[in-house]
Amino acid sequence: VYTSNATNVAPLIDTKKSVFTRVLPAHPSSKDIIGGFPASKPALIDEATGVVLTRSRLRELSLALAYGLQHHSSLQALARGSTALVFSPNCLAYPVIVFGCKCIAAGLRLTVANAAYLSHELAHQYTDNGASLLFTSQDGVSVVQAMFAELGVSKEEAARRTVVLDADLGWVDGKGPSVTRFSELLSLGALEEEEKFNGAAADETVFLCYSSGTTGKPKGVETTHANMVAILDILAPNWPKLPAGREIVPAFLPFYHIYSLAILLSLGLTLGWTSLVQPRFNPVQFFKAIEKYRIALACVAPPVLVVLARHPDAGKYDLSSLEYMLSAAAPLSADLVKEVQTKIASGRADGVKCKIVQLYGLTETTTATNFLSFADVDRKVGSVGPLVPHLERRIVEDEEGNVDVKDGQPGELWVRGQTVMKGYLNNPAANEESFASDGWFKTGDIVVRDREGYFWVVDRRKELIKYKGYQVAPAELESVLLTHPDVADAAVIGVNSVEEATELPRAYVVHARPAELAFEKNVARWMEGKVARHKFLRGGVRVVDVIPKSAAGKILRRELREEAKKEGVQA
Ligand code: AMP
Repeated sequence: VYTSNATNVAPLIDTKKSVFTRVLPAHPSSKDIIGGFPASKPALIDEATGVVLTRSRLRELSLALAYGLQHHSSLQALARGSTALVFSPNCLAYPVIVFGCKCIAAGLRLTVANAAYLSHELAHQYTDNGASLLFTSQDGVSVVQAMFAELGVSKEEAARRTVVLDADLGWVDGKGPSVTRFSELLSLGALEEEEKFNGAAADETVFLCYSSGTTGKPKGVETTHANMVAILDILAPNWPKLPAGREIVPAFLPFYHIYSLAILLSLGLTLGWTSLVQPRFNPVQFFKAIEKYRIALACVAPPVLVVLARHPDAGKYDLSSLEYMLSAAAPLSADLVKEVQTKIASGRADGVKCKIVQLYGLTETTTATNFLSFADVDRKVGSVGPLVPHLERRIVEDEEGNVDVKDGQPGELWVRGQTVMKGYLNNPAANEESFASDGWFKTGDIVVRDREGYFWVVDRRKELIKYKGYQVAPAELESVLLTHPDVADAAVIGVNSVEEATELPRAYVVHARPAELAFEKNVARWMEGKVARHKFLRGGVRVVDVIPKSAAGKILRRELREEAKKEGVQA
């Protein structure tokens, strides 16, 4: 375990092996065992329809997709290293795409897009990584059509680049060139076995999730096979054995976030979990699923814990089976943990508390840099736990990293190791800003480490706002606000909502002319037509005379946060 400031740590994990083999390996001698679990064990269940994908079926379909992608006649040819984009809420096809594209097809990179995106947001991601193929849910077809139209791509060409999931139709209006159906791709044959991605191929990029990083707009994070193998090896030893027959884990967290890709879809399969797939989080469905399946473990984000503690219907369901919860993606307060524990314990005759642990990390670090183990949970409520094995860390006082702070003092966390991304795709400026010259990755988060090596996340140095675990890039909202005819200047910060356990984006705008009274509300409403729901200005809009900026023109967000506090808004 490396918790010192040492440099030169030899890699201890053999990452030069296939992720797919790690996650869903066929047993060498028997078709009935996949990765130590029966091949007939459900890997995923679709909550709405009850359709089950067993481990062997998931493996078969992934091999079939890989084959179909290589052999389909009308799809754009896909060279190794080209990119496929998936634009869909959670569904059973999603993991097939994840494993079919990333692990076994000819080295495709998979970029996963937020399913709530509007066409121009999708266009940013599609063009930024030069994707050549796009998988979309039926519901997403109109957004995809609009995106291709905005990009000036002809209908014929758009059809050659699109695969529609679970659909019998071509384009929704039934006119124009028909697109490839997912089921068609799966019907052409199957690879005998997966490609291994051993040796140097382990450093090929497998996922491109989008993250705004320290500053600016969302960027493609290059996650490699080696990163994935490393995080699986790091996290796998830390899980409780779930009670027999109750290995079902709800899967409502979006599959397009690294948290789901690494933990629900990869770690879960290596540990033999069955994911109960739900397209999105719905409180009552969540409660019903806990009661019906006697769920023991749930992977959540803090706003889900708020729902468990305070939703008016929570008391109508038996939630007492919940023994373990993992919270990640956003700060979690000790008070909220205690509230949820009390609620769940009240439904149990033995009063035993649910163990709620935190994982802290970033898309850029393939999830966890820190993980509080279930064994430690009562001693260190509110902590994100110690640094995970095989990572090195520094906690630095200044942005240049000249001074390391002492234990107990706040500083920015810098990490180095096998789970750190290759870099931001085609973005040398962002890479220069995020990596120190000796390879340290700057998380942009302010942490405190106690004497025993446990970490607390106390603040953020970077611009990022997190709405219910979803990233919101202030720079993106500022550039949208500047397209408003009456906005002369704009700045966006995050403010806290304790009730909802989340940050909310709040805008400060300079009106081009003397502002009418309703202007602030109008701007907030106007924004709702321009961006996906999680980016709405729920923290409010304020008109100001001037946006505070440094001599170099950088927005002084700290001053705006002070301003928000004076206005009585928690920032
Ligand atoms: P993402 O790349 O979307 O996972 O966002 C990463 C950022 O989310 C981190 O840099 C933190 O600011 C925040 N974050 C993630 N997990 C936690 C946590 N457990 N506690 C506090 N902040 C977190």
